[in-house]
Amino acid sequence: MLGALLSLVASSYLLDPAQASDLFRDSRQQMIRLIEADVRDTSHYLKRSSLDTRVLDAMARVPRHEFVPPEMVDRAYQNRPLPIGHGQTISQPYIVAIMTDLLDTEPDQRILEIGTGSGYQAAILAEIGTRVWSIEIIPALGKQAQTRLQRLGYDRVEVRLGDGYYGWPENAPFDAIIVTAAASHIPPPLLQQLKPGGRMIIPVGSRFSTQQLVLITRNENDEFITRQVLPVRFVPLTGEH
Ligand code: SAH
Repeated sequence: MLGALLSLVASSYLLDPAQASDLFRDSRQQMIRLIEADVRDTSHYLKRSSLDTRVLDAMARVPRHEFVPPEMVDRAYQNRPLPIGHGQTISQPYIVAIMTDLLDTEPDQRILEIGTGSGYQAAILAEIGTRVWSIEIIPALGKQAQTRLQRLGYDRVEVRLGDGYYGWPENAPFDAIIVTAAASHIPPPLLQQLKPGGRMIIPVGSRFSTQQLVLITRNENDEFITRQVLPVRFVPLTGEH
């Protein structure tokens, strides 16, 4: 029923815009409840049973339906990854929420994202008040995300095309780094671009199986402390590195 209504809204705008935005707001609230239930179910892995309200508030504000292809709009608020073209996906909202939460950022901090994709994760990070530099290797996706983020007013996100394995040295060091594609190993250039006290979240493992979401903290003594958080499945980090 909700799906049918959403397609109606997306395809013809038969409802007036105020009603349409209410409908999406309700769908987002429902999505938040699904995320909260998943967080409770995985609290053993996450070592927490609820997420920072700033993260959930951001998830409740960012219009995910603007970040998916038109034919996916009616599924935009399901708690699932969705195809965005070029063999890539927009991550599952639960995964976006926990990765954002684990980064534990403060407003105005500098964040590096590898794998812009649709731009949704970058928008969530901007919505909680951080500044985001995001790198995408597929030019068409990167350009589309950049245009979309500008149109939606996310002027604290900067997108660059290229291989994120090497990071963005001109803007380093970063308070936090988030990698949203699965890497076979932790890229050393990214470790170098992390501030002491900073945190990095990255799925590590083979493209052919599930990977481990790994949280790395660079402590004030310049040691890297790693923790495996939970099994996940991401598209692979590609490139010539
Ligand atoms: N964060 C995205 C989802 C990412 S899907 C979102 O919110 O929608 C993973 C993305 O990583 C894909 O768009 C893929 O093209 C990109 N990617 C893969 N390897 C990369 C690399 N080496 N450097 C930068 N981006 C890469």
